[in-house]
Amino acid sequence: MSEHKYWKGRNILRVDQFTKADLDWLFAVTREMLFIVDNKLPNTLLQGYCMTTLFYEPSTRTSSSFCSAMERLGGSHHQINGVKYSSVAKGESVHDTVRTLAELFDVIVMRHPEQGIIPNVAEASRVPLISGGDGIGEHPTQALLDVYTILRELERPLNPDLHVVMIGDLKYGRTIHSLSRLLAMYEVPLGFYAPDSLDLPEALSAELAAQTKIAHYASIEDAIKEADVFYVTRIQRERFVNPADYDQLKGSYQVTSELMKHAKPKMALMHPLPRVDEIERTVDTDSRAAYFRQIRYGLAVRMALLALVLGKREPYVSLA
Ligand code: ASP
Repeated sequence: MSEHKYWKGRNILRVDQFTKADLDWLFAVTREMLFIVDNKLPNTLLQGYCMTTLFYEPSTRTSSSFCSAMERLGGSHHQINGVKYSSVAKGESVHDTVRTLAELFDVIVMRHPEQGIIPNVAEASRVPLISGGDGIGEHPTQALLDVYTILRELERPLNPDLHVVMIGDLKYGRTIHSLSRLLAMYEVPLGFYAPDSLDLPEALSAELAAQTKIAHYASIEDAIKEADVFYVTRIQRERFVNPADYDQLKGSYQVTSELMKHAKPKMALMHPLPRVDEIERTVDTDSRAAYFRQIRYGLAVRMALLALVLGKREPYVSLA
C-alpha cells in the first residue's frame, strides 16, 4: 500500500525548507485552487478541519486570506488577534499557548514580533504550524505567493534571465528576506535599492551573493529600468526604536506614474501591502501594477498550503 508522507504534517517556518520540487508541486495545486476560486466551486476538501490564527501583530491580508482559504475548502477557522483577551495576558508562555491550541485545532497560523520565535516553538505543536511572519525574520507564505505571482504575471520561468529588483526597507522587511532567498535558489539576479541605513542585513547579502548575482542601485530610476519585477516595500515604522529616525526616512522614495515611464513595457510592479505612500495611487490603473492581483494569487497559494499540510494533496508516494 502506498503511503503519502511528504507534505502532510509539515510546518511552514522558513523558505530554506523548500526545494524546487516542493514549489513545483505547490504551484500545481495552487492552479487547481485558483480554478475553484474563479469558478466559485463549492468544495469540501477540508470539511471537518479547523484552523486557528494566533496573531500577536496586526494583519489584514495574511490572516484574512488564510480564513478565506479555509472556508473555500469547506473548513472552519477561529481567530485570536488581540492577545489581551487570551491567557497570554495572564502570563502564559508562547510555548504553552501553542501547545494548547494544537490540542484544539488541526492547523495553526501564527504571527509574532520576535524574530525566530515561531521556528523555536514549533516543537510545541503536534499539528502543522504555519508562520505568518516572525518580526524582522521571515514571511514564508508571502514569499511563496510572491513567486507564484511572478510566474503568472510574466509567464516566464525563474532563471538567470529574469531580473528582480527589490526596493524600500530591506533591513526590516521580512518579505524581502524570504523572497530574496527563494529567488536566489533559482539563481535569479537580484537588484536592491534602499534609503540609507535600511540596506539588506550583511549576513543575508553574503548568503545571496554566494548563490546569485547581486546589484545595488544608487537611484530609483536606475533600479526600475532593468527590472522585470519591481518589488516595493514600505518602511517598517513599527521596528524603529526612535520615531525620529522613521520620520527622517519616510517619503524618501515613491513609485509615480512618471517613474513608471522608465520601466519595461512588460514587467510586474509588486508590493506585499499595506502601502503607505511608496506607490502613488495613480499607478494602480497601470496594467503592470500587480499588487492587488497578488492578493488573489495569495489566496490560492494558501488554500494549496492548507490542503498540503493537512495531507489532502500528496505528490510523493513512498515505496516502503
Ligand atoms: N504585510 C507584510 C508583512 O506582514 C508587509 C508589511 O507589513 O509591510 O510583513
